[in-house]
Amino acid sequence: MNPFIQLGIRHDIVNAISELGFENPTPIQEQSIPVLLTGSNDFVGLAQTGTGKTAAFGLPLLELLDFDENYPQALVLCPTRELCLQITSDIKNYAKNMNNVHVVAVYGGASISDQLRQIKRGVQIVVATPGRMLDIINRKAIDFSQVKFVVLDEADEMLNMGFQEDIDSILSTTPDEKKTWLFSATMPAEVRRIAKKYMEDPYELTMGTKNTGNANIDHEYYVVRARDKYAAFKRIVDFNPEIFGIVFCRTKIETQEIAEALIKDGYNADSLHGDLSQQQRDKVMKRYRERSLQLLIATDVAARGIDVNDVTHVINYSLPDEIENYTHRSGRTARAGKTGVSIAIINSKELGKIRQIERVIGKKFVKAEIPSGFDVCEKQLFALVHKVHNVQVNEQQIEQYIPRIMDEFADLSKEEVIKRFASLEFNRFLDYYKNAPDLNATFEERAGREGASGDRFNRTGMRSEFTRLFINLGSVDDFNRGDLLGYVCNNTHISGRTVGKIDVKGVYSFFEVANDDVNKVVDGFKNIEFHGRPVRIEIAGEGVSENRGGARREGGYKKREGGSFRGGERREGGYKGNNSGGGFRDFSGKRREDRPERRRRY
Ligand code: AMP
Repeated sequence: MNPFIQLGIRHDIVNAISELGFENPTPIQEQSIPVLLTGSNDFVGLAQTGTGKTAAFGLPLLELLDFDENYPQALVLCPTRELCLQITSDIKNYAKNMNNVHVVAVYGGASISDQLRQIKRGVQIVVATPGRMLDIINRKAIDFSQVKFVVLDEADEMLNMGFQEDIDSILSTTPDEKKTWLFSATMPAEVRRIAKKYMEDPYELTMGTKNTGNANIDHEYYVVRARDKYAAFKRIVDFNPEIFGIVFCRTKIETQEIAEALIKDGYNADSLHGDLSQQQRDKVMKRYRERSLQLLIATDVAARGIDVNDVTHVINYSLPDEIENYTHRSGRTARAGKTGVSIAIINSKELGKIRQIERVIGKKFVKAEIPSGFDVCEKQLFALVHKVHNVQVNEQQIEQYIPRIMDEFADLSKEEVIKRFASLEFNRFLDYYKNAPDLNATFEERAGREGASGDRFNRTGMRSEFTRLFINLGSVDDFNRGDLLGYVCNNTHISGRTVGKIDVKGVYSFFEVANDDVNKVVDGFKNIEFHGRPVRIEIAGEGVSENRGGARREGGYKKREGGSFRGGERREGGYKGNNSGGGFRDFSGKRREDRPERRRRY
């Protein structure tokens, strides 16, 4: 039996949602539908966006309302126009096979007369943003006296946006005996207060731990110098050829600047922020939804309620002012059971903020390394190979050219042809990236913030790097590389396998050890003497002038030559935005005067 039928949903609705691809209920649907179907409970559901909340309350509403009557019986309040339209269209889709179901979307920035007309014609479910709803109530154009259910969707977002008073006024026009269903991704004290104020002994459902992020999201951070931020960001994008991402900035100006720089550099990007007209916003969102855009650069406010599936990456180009906003941002990926990555590009001063976010989301970030130019080339090459392998061949169209193409390649073997096709792209990438610098903040730049043995992880989460150490012994002391390796291992009891490159100079040498072993080596050489001279070990870069910053990948792209690259248009580090520092300029541990007190700051 269809699991939705088992939950108590009728056949004509189940048929409609089957067409939408709903085969099994999501966890929140499984747990909330039976409770809500009783129609006798207030309800608080703590769940992230993208978990299937809309059907969790939408399906029970369709079961519980009387569609032979044409007056408002359910009111769904949500924070944004986008979400309002989404919920309306979702409910209409679920109700596709039912008769006389009238759902109206009420939101600002669109003609009020159309909405009034629809209300007048008769409606059972009103989905609304608070501002416009109140406007319509004040015009006495709607009667909520027979409302049975009120849904507060994304309650935390609504409060964040300052809708508390509007919600109060709206709810005061609904009957006391109605049931209230509240959904929220986070549960700050204000949402608790709302729940207490409007609900009686609500049934509470928490999907996952309170305030935690979606378990399907991996969180990564990259530490870069402020001046390298844009270049580093592009590197990350280039390293993810299939990226379909939302990039968050703190201000409208930054959003606009980053989008413009990206477009200039040949990326498929556009911006979404509050200075755009509604039409412009709709246009951008349409392009993004249709995937004509690969990167959407947005402010927090503009991106609220964005419900686009299959977002692969959320990139925090700048961390949000309020920690809670990080949850909202990252919740734009990993929707409907998918996985996603939320990336923060930070400078070393912002590590404290990462730790605070970790505490709020209850999940650790992985420190990732900005990929080298060569890593990017390799990744792009295989993405291309994969694409070539899977491309849909239009037999009819291509057929007429095949003989000439075959002719052209007649003197080449299959291997040669493949090599040439692949080189066409690979050379271009190599050319573009051949002088690409390491964009990771050096060990020295991070030190002091993270301690000397801060692990460095590559993208797969594996320990990937070594730390370069200085020792005051060299060839004048009759050491060659083998001698030095033996000397280090004997004194420190580390395995030779964890020692990397050894560089023996005259009176000193450098050698690399795995980050995990740095302390062992430093401790192991404490009080050790060599022919009466104390042996000195230092982390290269800390008072040592040569080759700071730990191991670098040798060889690779630097040694290779390439041709031209389509990304030749893509300039590295070209952007000089006013805000490239990306810091929290107003952060001081104090609250800014112009913000509501309740927001949680770092
Ligand atoms: P929501 O949290 O309601 O915004 O839902 C997120 C996405 O998951 C939407 O695109 C829904 O269409 C989809 N979805 C919701 N429930 C299911 C389900 N049971 N099976 C498959 N997809 C679902």
